Amino acid sequence: QFPRPGPRGALPSTMAHELNQPLTGVASYVRGGLRLLDSAEAPLAPEVRSALESAEAAAIQAGQIVRSLRELVARKTVSTQAQDLARIIMDANVLGFIDEQARGVKRRVSIDPEARWVEADGIQIQQVLINLIRNAIEATTGCPRREIAIATRPAAKNMVEMSVADTGEGLSDETRKALFSPFMSGKPDGMGIGLSITRTIVEAHGGRIWAEDAPDGGAVFRFTLPAARPAPANEHRSTDAEA
Ligand code: ADP
Repeated sequence: QFPRPGPRGALPSTMAHELNQPLTGVASYVRGGLRLLDSAEAPLAPEVRSALESAEAAAIQAGQIVRSLRELVARKTVSTQAQDLARIIMDANVLGFIDEQARGVKRRVSIDPEARWVEADGIQIQQVLINLIRNAIEATTGCPRREIAIATRPAAKNMVEMSVADTGEGLSDETRKALFSPFMSGKPDGMGIGLSITRTIVEAHGGRIWAEDAPDGGAVFRFTLPAARPAPANEHRSTDAEA
């Protein structure tokens, strides 16, 4: 069994920790605004407006992250169980590829029969895959070669490693620095919390997540989950039928 993210309804601890950043921002901008109000001759000085606007923006960010977490927690099933990654991947593919951008993207799925079952919350792992696949598809936008590859392989310490690789633009030095931090986005309309939530889920399962450069351009995201024995009802099934 891996460490649970805490009592039902509680914020996963890494996310709660990361919430401090925007909330501290709110507090200090408001404090600055009040100081300006106290000292300014003109109560509506542009500095005051700007400080309060920054406070508002930071508060909205904090609200968005809390909302995403609530959704995450609300969808959380009570217990983890043996999950078939082949099945989850096919599901995530279906959902991820509904996206308009998926058109024209080639995909490969390769499941190692020795790395097919994990002890996990299926819905949360699906969420992880959807986040990674969506990012991978977006990264290939405008690239001449648009491919993504999803694979599993056994990892040390009875873990399973899963990867999502793309032939996209690759990771810039800028994004690399704070890849899994909330609100870091390289996209004009990005919220920048997908990878942060993804990391929270993986770590709550006792796994870890990291990114590498793909050998021929693009990025590879890899994460680990505890391996499981196949669920008894599925033991008779072929190990490569679904992928
Ligand atoms: P968002 O997609 O809303 O920006 P994420 O947390 O999912 O938020 O991703 C943060 C940033 O990391 C992205 O904006 C992008 O710049 C970078 N990134 C994520 N996945 C990839 C990828 N596969 N290739 C290149 N850059 C990526």
